[in-house]
Formats: sequence, C-alpha cells, structure tokens
Amino acid sequence: MRYCRFMCVRCRQAEAPEPLGLCAPCAMHTRIEIVEGLRRLAGYLAAWAAFEDWLRERRLA
Ligand SMILES: [Zn+2]
Repeated sequence: MRYCRFMCVRCRQAEAPEPLGLCAPCAMHTRIEIVEGLRRLAGYLAAWAAFEDWLRERRLA
C-alpha cells in the first residue's frame, strides 16, 4: 500500500483530505460512535444521580 500524507487515520485505506483526517465512511462511523458514547455517558451519569438521590433519601450522604 502506498503511503499518502492524506490517508484516513482510521482505516488507512482511503484518502482523507478533510481536517480531521478521516475519509467519508470513517467520519460517519466516528460520529455514530460519538453519539453512542454520549448516550452511554448520559446513562452512566443518570445512574450516579439516582444513587445520590437514594443516599439522600436514607440520609446516608
Ligand atoms: Zn477511513
């Protein structure tokens, strides 16, 4: 495989002239992963908030 300065940093198979260094399919997959990660983070933080409420209700915090 020929090395290109503008190769996609994710798949290293396609050219990626955009500033993030991702080809179009990898940019889409990366965005999907970011959205999924934020959704999981929101669930995680909500679980901690529920735990804080649980502790407060029992005067443990
Ligand atoms: Zn790619």
